[in-house]
Amino acid sequence: MTARPTERPPASPAGIRADSWHARSPEDTLARLGTTREGLPRGEALERLDRYGPNRLTPPRRRGPVRRFLVQFHNVLIYVLLLSAVTTAALAHWVDTGVILGVVMANAVIGFLQEGKAERALDAIRDLLSPRAVAVRNGQRTTLPAEQLVPGDVVLLQSGDRVPADLRLLKVHNLTIDEAALTGESMPVRKGTEAVAERAALADRPDMAYSGTMVRYGQGRGVVVATGDSTELGRISTLLAEVNPLTTPLLREMGRFGRVLSLAIGGLAAALFSFGVLVRGYSAVEMFMAAVGLAVAAIPEGLPAIITITLAVGVQTMAARRAIVRRLPAVETLGSVTVICSDKTGTLTRNEMTVASVAESGRTFGVTGDGYDPHGGVTLDGTEVDAASHPGLTEIIRAGLLCNDAGLYRDDGGRWAVDGDPTEGALVTLARKAGLDPVLESEERPRQDLIPFESEHRFMATLHHDHFGHAFVYLKGAPERVLAMCSHQRHGGEDVPLDSAYWHAHAEGLAAQGQRVLALAFGAMTPDHGELRFADVEEGLTLLGLVGMMDPPRSEAIEAVHECRQAGIRVKMITGDHAVTARAVGERLGIGDGVRTRTGDELDALDDAGLRGDVRAVDVFARVSPEHKLRLVEALQSDGEVVAMTGDGVNDAPALKRADVGVAMGVKGTEVAKEAAEMVLADDNFASITAAVREGRTVYDNIKKSILFILPTNGGEALTILAAVLLGRELPITPVQILWVNMITAVTLGLALAFEASEPGVMRRPPREPGASLLSAFMIARIVLVSLAAVAVTFGLFLWERVHGTEVEEARTLAVNTLVLVEAFYLFSTRRIRDPIRGPRDLLGNGYVLAAAGTVAGGQLLFTYAPFMQYLFGTRPLSWESWGQSVAAAALVFLLVEISKHLRGRDNAGQNGSSVSGVT
Ligand code: ATP
Repeated sequence: MTARPTERPPASPAGIRADSWHARSPEDTLARLGTTREGLPRGEALERLDRYGPNRLTPPRRRGPVRRFLVQFHNVLIYVLLLSAVTTAALAHWVDTGVILGVVMANAVIGFLQEGKAERALDAIRDLLSPRAVAVRNGQRTTLPAEQLVPGDVVLLQSGDRVPADLRLLKVHNLTIDEAALTGESMPVRKGTEAVAERAALADRPDMAYSGTMVRYGQGRGVVVATGDSTELGRISTLLAEVNPLTTPLLREMGRFGRVLSLAIGGLAAALFSFGVLVRGYSAVEMFMAAVGLAVAAIPEGLPAIITITLAVGVQTMAARRAIVRRLPAVETLGSVTVICSDKTGTLTRNEMTVASVAESGRTFGVTGDGYDPHGGVTLDGTEVDAASHPGLTEIIRAGLLCNDAGLYRDDGGRWAVDGDPTEGALVTLARKAGLDPVLESEERPRQDLIPFESEHRFMATLHHDHFGHAFVYLKGAPERVLAMCSHQRHGGEDVPLDSAYWHAHAEGLAAQGQRVLALAFGAMTPDHGELRFADVEEGLTLLGLVGMMDPPRSEAIEAVHECRQAGIRVKMITGDHAVTARAVGERLGIGDGVRTRTGDELDALDDAGLRGDVRAVDVFARVSPEHKLRLVEALQSDGEVVAMTGDGVNDAPALKRADVGVAMGVKGTEVAKEAAEMVLADDNFASITAAVREGRTVYDNIKKSILFILPTNGGEALTILAAVLLGRELPITPVQILWVNMITAVTLGLALAFEASEPGVMRRPPREPGASLLSAFMIARIVLVSLAAVAVTFGLFLWERVHGTEVEEARTLAVNTLVLVEAFYLFSTRRIRDPIRGPRDLLGNGYVLAAAGTVAGGQLLFTYAPFMQYLFGTRPLSWESWGQSVAAAALVFLLVEISKHLRGRDNAGQNGSSVSGVT
């Protein structure tokens, strides 16, 4: 694929290579690309898409299926098994050889399929995060998937964007780009539009913006010169680094645990071999097989695969609940989150702004109507008035309309919606309610320049000219910020000295009703003024008035905050809005005590120790800048909290990275924020964070359940072999039978737990202790209890049968079936870690468990009755009576576990005075 349209190059300065775009003027570049500053016509763009292909990098080659399958054999245990297969073959024990090889193959196939499923789940998630770009086509802004960009497209950039393709810049406004991804240079680069020398190195081309780099500040417009693999990024293809590895701290911990366990078991098997041969007089062949049996029995080989699947299932469930996990370890961390720091606007509130009041000096107007629908009007003392007959009011509304980048449109359902910032959308709606026509207004007072809104400076200003030779600035922003820039106020058409105290009080009054308040100001400029700088608006402006807008809390956020509280998680609101507004909104959401708030300025005055005390007591932080977020995260973490933090802007990235779980907004979030985050919320909704926490806890529970389930199976089998050899008895289960139980039935059953839904009380218990070992004393006690019980019934029944003269094959068949039934019954019990099984729902609620149990039951019938299985595994048919004994024994173990849960539950209730079980 080539993305360089050089087929019919127009005349150009001699000697410049076709792809040296940085050495060409913007006009030359546009001409050579067959486009204009107004972008490509839509049809042409589609044609070029066909010609050049989509704007994406060819993904790195994956391990092919054959290699993936072979990797399944790369495992110490499998090597041991293959060695035993060779040994048994050398001894001409062909049946055993066949069984061992069969089980090894079956194990590899199961592993291969599971891994494939996990990888597919994660791939699907990655696709959800594909970036979007803003292009100009036919002179109109359109947001489209970055993949659809073609050479010749004109693209708009703003702070937080990831540059979607290689661009020759046409226009910049303070554009600063971080090119570390490409050049390794960590200092962001200031961009311009002047062509540079052809031999300039990549890092010295300020007139270019390269795909994959990040816009840190400012705005820009550029024309696409290369897409996909033809971009500079494509040439060095760093995509490899992006591949999300299928591993997490927990998996690594399990891996280490597994290796230590394998070594210990290897030693034990060797000791057993020597003991059996030397002391008990078994034959070397028999003992070799027993030692291999022990190794297979004791090593939980299915566990890593089950944990991986559990994580992948969790990630999928979270994605269905609109929380997209970018880094797998976040799934585990989510379960231990103790504090969620959330933005207000759009996350806790709906971000559907509606202007409710407009205040000019001396009087306050009301505004009627709902949402962005421009039907509605302006009222004074409850009666509708004509805005046109109140020039002061009209001027406030006009300022709001022109100092504005948003537009209104009707969505597919006919509902009015905003294209752009909702705060600004509300002002457009207001203007239309007041009878101002956006198109006409901007034609009469065209915009010449602007200072865009940034959370740091909390205002936006635009420079306009009218057709009578006047130049002036409209400015809107946070009231205290704007008041500090004003020396006068508009009153009855006159500019009079500013009464700052009056306006501050008025703004607080609106904020106390939960309204977001903006102040609007005007400043006359000299007619030749062409560029707007900060210095132009720092002082001497005239305040026009205030606008108050409502942004109702999301109802599901109110519930989610309540749920968090029950789950022992504190929710803190961190907002750029005014303290009084924040407090009022917090009260409606159940965040904070309705009294205490902290502002960014107050935080600045605190040292780290003071801040730590503060973050413990205060839940509402207002007028906070992104830098404060980083300090807040650090203070909370040094206080031992596990912090989830939301963010959307470029400057939120450090806080997101620092937080234990950084959460970026999928809709209004910048690409920079998304890349820094562990998780992205597809709907920007706080409730989705809570859902993810719930799922994180569930995943962790399910992993614990798998361990609780699998380890006793291994323990029981290993103990059975050990006991038999030590006591000098026949093995109640032969090595090949152990292979069957361990590598086929246990894995089939255990996997069902990956699909276990949340336990009912999962959000009514405190967060898991971070760093607490997975194998707590409680877990170990349970594992030992069940292992011993399994040995007792399996070995017990075997001995009983043998004593009563049953032949050894039949007694073994009974022992194996008993062990598998114990597993199956115990699986149902493991559905609840601590709570006893109370009813049919607890027992039968998971279809996967039922299906797994059914499959294994069928397998056991085959194992017992099918002639070929009898031949392979040395089994015999069982009588009804024997089945009865098996089922009774398995039920006994089930009861034992349930009784132990009851007893512990009573202990806990006695200690805590509550029946809610804690977490280990
Ligand atoms: P959060 O951090 O919870 O998302 P926020 O969206 O209210 O809070 P900012 O967007 O940083 O925080 O806004 C801070 C303040 O800046 C607002 O209270 C408002 O007064 C002002 N403001 C917000 N948007 C604009 C805008 N488009 N133009 C001018 N001023 C704005």
